[in-house]
Amino acid sequence: MIYLEVAVAAPIYHPLTYKLPEHLDPASLAPGLRLLAPLGNRLVTGYLLAITDVAPKNGRLKSIADLLDPMPLFPSEMIPFFRWLADYYQHPIGEVIKGALPGGLTTESGRTVTITETGRDHLAALTNQDKETPNWLTTLLSKGQLSASAVRKIWKKEERRLRKWQDQGFLIIENVLRTDKVKTKTELCAKLSDHQPTPSKLKASETKTLALLQALPLGQWHPQRELARDYPSARQALRSLAEKEMLELAKRQVYRDPFGEPALFFPKPETLTDEQQAALAVLQPAITAKKFTPFLLHGVTGSGKTEVYLRATETALAQDRSVLVLVPEIALAAQLEGHFVSRFGDQVALLHSGLSAGERYDQWQRLKNGTAKIAIGARSAIFAPLANPGLIIVDEEHDPAYKQEDNLRYHGRDLAVLRGSLQKAVVILGSATPSITSFYHAQSGKYQLLNLTCRIENRPMPEVEVIDLREVPTVSGHPPLFTNQLNRALRQTLADGNQALIFLNRRGFASSMICQDCGHTVQCRNCQVTLTLHKGNRQLVCHYCGYNTTSKIICSNCQSPKVIGIGFGTERLEDELTKLFPSARIARLDRDTTSKRTDFLATLRAVHQGEVDILIGTQMITKGHHFPNVTLVGIVWADAGLGLPDFKAGERTFQLLCQVTGRAGRGDKPGRVIVQTHQPDHYSVITAQAHDYQALYDRELELRQHLQYPPFSRLINLQLDGIDEGRVREVAETLARKGSELACGQPGLAILGPAPSPLARLRGRYRWQILLKGAAIDSLHQLCAQLYKAHPTSRDKNAVKLTVDVDPENML
Ligand code: ADP
Ligand code: ZN
Ligand code: ZN
Repeated sequence: MIYLEVAVAAPIYHPLTYKLPEHLDPASLAPGLRLLAPLGNRLVTGYLLAITDVAPKNGRLKSIADLLDPMPLFPSEMIPFFRWLADYYQHPIGEVIKGALPGGLTTESGRTVTITETGRDHLAALTNQDKETPNWLTTLLSKGQLSASAVRKIWKKEERRLRKWQDQGFLIIENVLRTDKVKTKTELCAKLSDHQPTPSKLKASETKTLALLQALPLGQWHPQRELARDYPSARQALRSLAEKEMLELAKRQVYRDPFGEPALFFPKPETLTDEQQAALAVLQPAITAKKFTPFLLHGVTGSGKTEVYLRATETALAQDRSVLVLVPEIALAAQLEGHFVSRFGDQVALLHSGLSAGERYDQWQRLKNGTAKIAIGARSAIFAPLANPGLIIVDEEHDPAYKQEDNLRYHGRDLAVLRGSLQKAVVILGSATPSITSFYHAQSGKYQLLNLTCRIENRPMPEVEVIDLREVPTVSGHPPLFTNQLNRALRQTLADGNQALIFLNRRGFASSMICQDCGHTVQCRNCQVTLTLHKGNRQLVCHYCGYNTTSKIICSNCQSPKVIGIGFGTERLEDELTKLFPSARIARLDRDTTSKRTDFLATLRAVHQGEVDILIGTQMITKGHHFPNVTLVGIVWADAGLGLPDFKAGERTFQLLCQVTGRAGRGDKPGRVIVQTHQPDHYSVITAQAHDYQALYDRELELRQHLQYPPFSRLINLQLDGIDEGRVREVAETLARKGSELACGQPGLAILGPAPSPLARLRGRYRWQILLKGAAIDSLHQLCAQLYKAHPTSRDKNAVKLTVDVDPENML
């Protein structure tokens, strides 16, 4: 007897065991296949984890209904990885796998309705009497059938009537499967035959088509569509040539091209710097050794980390192993993608949320079947179905974007280290400003530290000038957005024909709206957050839930129409700069201007080609970009993140300042940075000004040790939210009490809270949190699992929802 261990795509924590029905062939089974499994009274997608002949203890087993794939969707090596993830993040394993796979691949059961002969007469007669025939019935009469999606829409309301008519023999309800939305794309393709018969008389169009094919790589399939694009008559000629057995024609899988606009081309440098060489001298033998070895590559901005990644990739490919490259967000991927494509061509596959479902599926397939050996993508690319990865690179490893903040709350960087250890790969975590935790591991020997301390060609680090906004003369109570120093520096930069970056980590025009008569600030109706004015489309927008309303409003408190915007964002900077420098070419990069990836790429290209003089942006412009002609960076207000109630605020601000500072002076001309701040004495500002990571690290470590925060402890945040404030509070208090009882007597375990979350209301839901703090993750996990059990799960929409966040990055 064969038993199947299956993870079902449902909120069930552990895998289930099923039998194999007789009509299915055991030889077609392989771990990594999707299948259809009964669960309750429906059929759901399941993922085959293991095949065993050991009977499980518990009673009667059901049989699976069907297999969904001819070939596994992911390599079986990934199954231990999924199991670990489910355990560590306390998340149902089937949902872990579902989230890891490309979207559009879920098969579910549904129903179709078909009309019978008798039914046609009866129901037609019925509609003749009844004036109000529902639309679906009209469709059923004219087409004879309702599709599964049509039935799903009416089922709840019409189930009784439909069932009654079925009993009367008017129609047939059938269970069917709603299958995947994405499919393999195939096209008619041609390939020259290996043994070509001596040509009989050929028509001119045939000769020309043959010549076209002969000019392309031999032994490969070429889509008819592409041949016909250059030479329309090829369509006909291909057929006749196939009849003459000069070539083969067949439907073949083709891949949708996700690259769109070609990425920039980057040539390979002839020589490496001494530091790059030294780093590779350690990395390359580690890759050839085929052992798990984690590295932290600490390289100042402009030190050439990318080249180290590229050379390490060459080594791994030469060992016939694949390579996974993670970047914090797709925006940044554009540049790194360019480097990898320039060097490795079509061995590169891209995985990111900017792709359509079909494109993503194709990229997945290329990696799965080994056509592509390098995967580049944002955090979810950690699930790329690469067989035998030998190298995993995490660029800008400190970036908070690696943390997924919903569903499975994983950290892409941590998973990279884990996957590396499971698959015996080398892991490179790269950053100019490593996270405190990673640097701590490098100090303690858990990671090996590699240093790149100099910029390429020994270019100097830019000079950083800090301007104390408290001492700047104010204009109607506020310091100007652009102080005299920054203003003059901009003028000089433009006069010299160089480029400037202006950074502010806040988008929009005004950060809040305030009533001039009563001082009331306008809040989102769903969240405890002020609305931001976006002048371009005359709207007030909530940056958390997306709620928006027109900017012409009256005060909800006193009905005064005198509601004005205060504070500033990137849109306002653009407005002011356009007035200050009317002839300058100004561009802006933030989430408002880059909803489309193509817009983003177009702006980047314009900056590279010198068509932009001043680029304004949020943290989007800080990361990774290499603009050789940028000589000035202006940080309009360094304080935006410092006030946040988060123990990582200091670390984050330092990272942002260093990253944006690092954009200046990367070419032949030296760079200059001007930082405007109200807190020039803050340690994040002082250490960033001196480019002194070690000083920041020492200071942070001292603070963390004092408070026993990570890396000196581990955290799990339990978040409770619901629509009834009192209930949320009550549940939080009960759970915290229970936690304290359980933790009592266990040294090193502490329960902090319950307390309202800093953002106490979001998307219409009230939020409380309980922080579990402990010396070791194991005892925290245990405690968390017990609390989870104590919290009744419910599908009721009024119920209080519990979310577990292991190693939280963001506790707002
Ligand atoms: P980082 O990521 O460390 O900030 P980059 O990898 O972007 O730095 O490198 C900065 C610039 O130096 C890039 O234009 C890159 O092509 C160039 N570069 C890197 N290595 C070398 C080298 N060995 N010789 C010459 N130029 C190099
Ligand atoms: Zn909102
Ligand atoms: Zn008012």
